[in-house]
Amino acid sequence: MRVRKAIEIAGIVQGVGFRPYIYRLANETKLTGFITNTEAGVSIEVEGPPEAIAIFLSRLPKEVPPLARITNIAVTDHPSNHDEEFRILPSRAGERRRALISPDVAICEDCRRELFDPTDRRFRYPFINCTNCGPRYTIVRDIPYDRAKTSMAVFPLCPNCQREYDDPLDRRFHAQPNACWNCGPRVELWDGEGRRLESPDPIARTVELLAAGEIVAVKGLGGFHLAVDAMNEAAVARLRERKRRVEKPFAVMAANLECVEESCWLEEISRNLLQTAPHPIVLLQKKQPQRIAASVAPFNRDLGVFLPYTPLHYLLFAEKHFSALVMTSGNISEEPIAIDNREAVNRLRDIADYFLVHNREILLRCDDSVVRVEGRRPRQVRRSRGYVPAPVFLQEELPPVLAVGGELKNTVCLTRGREAFLSQHIGDLENLESYRFFESTVAGLERILEVEPKLLAYDLHPDYFSTRWALAKEGMDRVGVQHHHAHIASCMVENHLEGSVIGLALDGTGYGPDGNVWGGEVLVADYRDFQRLTHLDYVSMPGGAAAIVEPRRMAISYLFHHFGRDFWGLDIPFTRRLERHRTETFLRLIERGVNSPLTSSCGRLFDAVAALAGVREQVNYEAQAAIELEAALEGVSEDRRYPFAIRDASGGWVIDTRPLFLALVQDLREGVPAGVISRRFHLGLADVLVRAAELVRRRTGLARVCLSGGSYQNTFLLEHTSTHLEAEGFQVFTHAEVPCGDGGLSLGQALVAAHRRQL
Ligand code: ZN
Ligand code: ZN
Ligand code: FE
Repeated sequence: MRVRKAIEIAGIVQGVGFRPYIYRLANETKLTGFITNTEAGVSIEVEGPPEAIAIFLSRLPKEVPPLARITNIAVTDHPSNHDEEFRILPSRAGERRRALISPDVAICEDCRRELFDPTDRRFRYPFINCTNCGPRYTIVRDIPYDRAKTSMAVFPLCPNCQREYDDPLDRRFHAQPNACWNCGPRVELWDGEGRRLESPDPIARTVELLAAGEIVAVKGLGGFHLAVDAMNEAAVARLRERKRRVEKPFAVMAANLECVEESCWLEEISRNLLQTAPHPIVLLQKKQPQRIAASVAPFNRDLGVFLPYTPLHYLLFAEKHFSALVMTSGNISEEPIAIDNREAVNRLRDIADYFLVHNREILLRCDDSVVRVEGRRPRQVRRSRGYVPAPVFLQEELPPVLAVGGELKNTVCLTRGREAFLSQHIGDLENLESYRFFESTVAGLERILEVEPKLLAYDLHPDYFSTRWALAKEGMDRVGVQHHHAHIASCMVENHLEGSVIGLALDGTGYGPDGNVWGGEVLVADYRDFQRLTHLDYVSMPGGAAAIVEPRRMAISYLFHHFGRDFWGLDIPFTRRLERHRTETFLRLIERGVNSPLTSSCGRLFDAVAALAGVREQVNYEAQAAIELEAALEGVSEDRRYPFAIRDASGGWVIDTRPLFLALVQDLREGVPAGVISRRFHLGLADVLVRAAELVRRRTGLARVCLSGGSYQNTFLLEHTSTHLEAEGFQVFTHAEVPCGDGGLSLGQALVAAHRRQL
């Protein structure tokens, strides 16, 4: 007996070797029929004995190629048509394609073997790839994903490459970026002025230069890196100086896992994460002592480490002249990463001594992703290369919404049906280059997803570039979404939650509808609305945004708030360090309410405590004080916690920090070390958050808590708050797939906007 089944598969199933996989599987199980690409994915028909079909269907989802991601399989009966073989049919033309474009993928094992095989025709070819690996998203110009619509279009395949491309049984069947020495892209070494240097082997020459401590701008997958020997203190210091980047950690690419292990503590889960297809930067705890130059990540407990992910990277490490390279984005301070050869020379000539470039164009800029393992789960810190444009799957169908995110660590989000597409990391919208990147990312997503948004979602902050951009769009329906509501909604989406939840939203800055700077918020929220039930008590930020880069201002503000001018009489090291005249200026600003917005920010509370504890009074990058305050508690055992009070306020409660500062000042008088202070503060904060959640539960009956906002990048705070909440019978949800910080904001905005308008 012969039966025939039709199988519709949706997901990431194009450009990932899916058709050859099915072809082989059908041949192995001796079935006839066909496979073809469709709008949503692939369409398969198989025919043969029922037992063989059952085997085919059970093996199908289990043995898919590494890059494939099936989101739906639908099987239906079909009349037999007695075909005699299994065939790969051409894509159905003229249909709108809804299949997903794969993210970029690190070089696979097979390609790596060939790369170093002297008998292989691609021996040492820096652009070797196959259907299981290589560039994807970053080389796409338009859909459908075919070579002609990628930056590989200018490289006609040579006969050998063409043969592989056409052979369904070849590992390079329909591998769009397929190339070799004869037909593909090439590298060149340029000097600091962008003049081409004659060299028989530009990569070997680059290795010599790096080994000699030179700074080389290396063109990668999603942009240029600035590379320098990570063990060479002088060279790293020179890079810092030229890049005008003070103390903010650099990422390090290690030659292999052994080299990672030499410098960092590596658990099984991080070890696997380093080797997954996206090859993200993983934040790992440093070992001491340490061969990596101290100025790579000064004052930092962690090191951001990743493994080589392109053939070119492997070639750089092949000679073993160095075991780790600083590989930091090719940009000046907070500008977007450079992607074009000439643009790179123009922007980076004062930083890089040399440029290792190539002629495969990067069409979509994409920074490296950053992931941290917390509570035994990988959590996104910066979701970018290797993860984008894989969608976040939604529980419901949404109208097409474009959400434009916040101001810092910006991402945008575009929805299509039951999928939400978060963009790559765009960064801080503070300069013209970033605005352009923002606009081109929006246009790029709309193009490759073929979505024309009907609704725009934006942050309420009137001065954000993204907000102004959204408000300037003519003829679009728009919804402004409160910052912390968007954070909590983002956490709900990721965890597929419906209904109402308690939201603990903690971060540095978010515009409050009362005109104040929010950031320590306890909300009750659903996708449509929110209610603010509790928040950290307001204090002034003397000088506004200037207080963010100078944590000592927040310490002064908190002391003034709780002690008035009497704080001068407190016998603590912090006040002894203060400059009287300058401090009095801040106090006058506060008293008169001049340029001193009120804030309930959790980040600013961390700043105040860090400054008082002597950890950091001035920062060089965002959240530095909080990061170093957390690092200070490492290895300290201490069960005491600082007290906080909760008092009634209209419609809810306010978290009062007076008892905290009384106890903290007492400790400072007694010379209690910073690590102990830090731990007591963290424990106290986690404790008061749980108490606040408890009050909200008593009033509302809700027991699900969402933790969101940038402050949850603090591992200690996240773990202690969640364990404590769970012990009290709460169900706790947080982020993993999407960043808890402002990189995840746009996702929440999209959901809130859709619900406000439609559902
Ligand atoms: Zn490969
Ligand atoms: Zn070729
Ligand atoms: Fe935020």
